[in-house]
Amino acid sequence: MSERLHFAVLLIGMPGVGKGTQGKLLAQHSWLVHVSTGELLRSLPDDSDVGRLVANYLGRGEFVPDELMLEIWDRWLAEQMRSGRYRPGEQLLLLDGIPRNLAQCQRLAQQIDVRQVLSLSPPDDEPMVERMRQRAVLEGRSDDADETIIRHRLEIYQRETAPILGFYGPELIREIDPMQTPSAVLEQILEGLTPIRSTLGMSPPRHH
Ligand code: AMP
Repeated sequence: MSERLHFAVLLIGMPGVGKGTQGKLLAQHSWLVHVSTGELLRSLPDDSDVGRLVANYLGRGEFVPDELMLEIWDRWLAEQMRSGRYRPGEQLLLLDGIPRNLAQCQRLAQQIDVRQVLSLSPPDDEPMVERMRQRAVLEGRSDDADETIIRHRLEIYQRETAPILGFYGPELIREIDPMQTPSAVLEQILEGLTPIRSTLGMSPPRHH
């Protein structure tokens, strides 16, 4: 694990809310380094032990156990720094999918300095179910093809992930209405990130 403290912005919102779309748009900015842990997990090779293990959790709509998730995360972060794709202190990590519960928040607090939490919360869950089903067809995602699993994922979100907002507290949270057009959502996100961006490169990442 790295000893540095990394500047990070979190994208939080229930499945189907458009975090993936926003993540891809935001990733085009060179001062942001985006990761979607869902994509990272889905990209693991099917013929590896870890790939098979992870696919089993994903297929049931269950979280990957924290230890395994954090190991995959640590490896991803080390690789980004080694390859120069991520330069600590000069770029912001944009995290979609991690931390996903309070235990992961506590563990990541040793590593990342959360500057903002983008909370994409729709007025109600029902439109999300339909969005997720349509996305599953387009992207060939087996976890969201089945309504029972979609509902299970939404339940886990409410129970495990929504409490994260309380962990970081209101001063870090920026509420974004995800039912706007993707470009309006993007604009609102970028507006909130501007002051954070201007602090990049001004102070070196802290060491413990
Ligand atoms: P997503 O694409 O973000 O909806 O994630 C898809 C699936 O990946 C989730 O249902 C979980 O099974 C798994 N996953 C993604 N991120 C995490 C995480 N931080 N901890 C545990 N499981 C995760």
